[in-house]
Amino acid sequence: MEGKMTISVRELVSYVYRTGHIDERFQTNTALLEGTAIHQEVQKKYKEGDQSEVFLEYEFNKEGLLLKVQGRCDGLLISEEGPVIDEIKSTGRELDEIDETTHPVYWAQAKGYAFMYAEKEDLDQIQVQLTYVQKRTKDKKRMRRTFTYKELKGFMEETVEKYNSYAQILLHIREQKEKTVPDLKFPFQGYREGQRKLAGSVYRTVEEKRNLFAQAPTGIGKTISTLFPAVKALQLEDMDRVFYLTAKTITRTTAEESLLKMKEKGLMLRSVTLTAKDKICFQEETICQPDFCAFADGYYDRINGAIVDILLNETQMTRPVIEYYARKHRICPFEFSLDLTDVVDIIIGDYNYIFDPRVSLKRLLPDRKKKTAILVDESHNLVERARDMYSAAIHKQAYMTVAEDWQEEDDALAKISEAIGKDLMRFYSSTEEYVQWEQVPGELEENVERFLTQAEALLQEEVEGERKERLIDVYFQSQRFLKILEYVDDHYRLIGESKSQGDFSFKLFCLDPSHVLRETTKGFRSGIFFSATLSPFAYYKEMLGGREVIIFCNCLLLTMLLRSMS
Ligand code: SF4
Repeated sequence: MEGKMTISVRELVSYVYRTGHIDERFQTNTALLEGTAIHQEVQKKYKEGDQSEVFLEYEFNKEGLLLKVQGRCDGLLISEEGPVIDEIKSTGRELDEIDETTHPVYWAQAKGYAFMYAEKEDLDQIQVQLTYVQKRTKDKKRMRRTFTYKELKGFMEETVEKYNSYAQILLHIREQKEKTVPDLKFPFQGYREGQRKLAGSVYRTVEEKRNLFAQAPTGIGKTISTLFPAVKALQLEDMDRVFYLTAKTITRTTAEESLLKMKEKGLMLRSVTLTAKDKICFQEETICQPDFCAFADGYYDRINGAIVDILLNETQMTRPVIEYYARKHRICPFEFSLDLTDVVDIIIGDYNYIFDPRVSLKRLLPDRKKKTAILVDESHNLVERARDMYSAAIHKQAYMTVAEDWQEEDDALAKISEAIGKDLMRFYSSTEEYVQWEQVPGELEENVERFLTQAEALLQEEVEGERKERLIDVYFQSQRFLKILEYVDDHYRLIGESKSQGDFSFKLFCLDPSHVLRETTKGFRSGIFFSATLSPFAYYKEMLGGREVIIFCNCLLLTMLLRSMS
């Protein structure tokens, strides 16, 4: 099949060269953020004349496939031996464990940039450097290799060739979508009262890149009235994907049934339903390490075969379908479903994949968000869920237990844990159960940061047992606390709670989540918030992040409001 595609260097080499296991030994949640900060720190120290974030692209023409490969290299450095492409990687591993064979995908990515630059500048050879930064110590290790233009060209042509069969599948899927979406008709005999109006408003909202807040009574058929126009909108320019978000499994099933109805009318789209990790996990205990789980062992060696198999044979990747193919290819069903989100048109899942700052899909990069519409079902639930997602608490007793657990082996960790416990007790009140604080004491934040650094070093070591589990729990609570602290402003209340047996907790409580919801929604092309109970309407509109009123319509059946994306 002939066709055109654009892909980033990173996506291309990750697909072709990924191998190995899922290995979720202890690792930090903040890796992505840390990675960004570490990149910037290295780039700040580049010499005069060196450049950061240099955009490069090249078009390969292989057997009818026109593949535009593009990306930004971290650094383009000047050296006496000629230009150097620098690729920066942060790592939790010790630097002396890493050599030139450790990460073939990283080398492949850097070689991709090097080829494009050598091609553009007509160079015979070029140097490629990987700069590793140890996340904890910030120590650096640099490895540099020289490649001829011929070597790099051969390497990239081989890479594109290996990608070609997969690209053909993606082109086939795209063709099916482009052929069937324009012809799709509403999959029922006729519209119920109010349905046409709701469907029309959803389509227009996505077309105009705005947000919509709609209240419609139970029984009107809200799922089909929102999903159908969103699917139709997939034929618009710069509209690639729909995220259908729900709070409950039952509404996820309704969305799947609506897609099935459209499929019966000829629609050929790929959809995936995301199920929480602990629910879909095949093991009794969720320990995602190759020694414990056969579905983690060699996951990346088998994932490409599984994706090709499911894409060729299925359109609706519901939980049972994912489980079937995951068992067939011996891969983790949860990771598999996440990997599928990169290639499908519709994703059905819980609110948290978009709105929770801890678990939101990091793979949803800004470019893709701008081409994605989110449909938020029963969105009145999102207000309470968002309060929860953007709140965090720490507990005095948990730190004191860590201090006791580790006082003999890690004096520094024990002392800092004790200090946090004492920080918290300064606000303890024997007379009042709840105390509102005006601000977070400066030393508490610093101490929690120091606790994380100290705990992280310890958790990288081979320690086992219940006290390790306790430390991991407090580590993640502390990490979440610091993460949420970044959001704290006058939408928050800081609440101390005195508990039984002298325990004390400190909570960052998100009273009004409107600003965080607004910020999250802003990154997407459109947000459709709908429910039977958005009443009082002004309150929910405000809480869900709505602002500027463009159209307001109030009738017996529907209450709708659109606002601009600004
Ligand atoms: S099957 Fe369960 S334990 Fe294994 S990798 Fe997946 S989530 Fe982890």
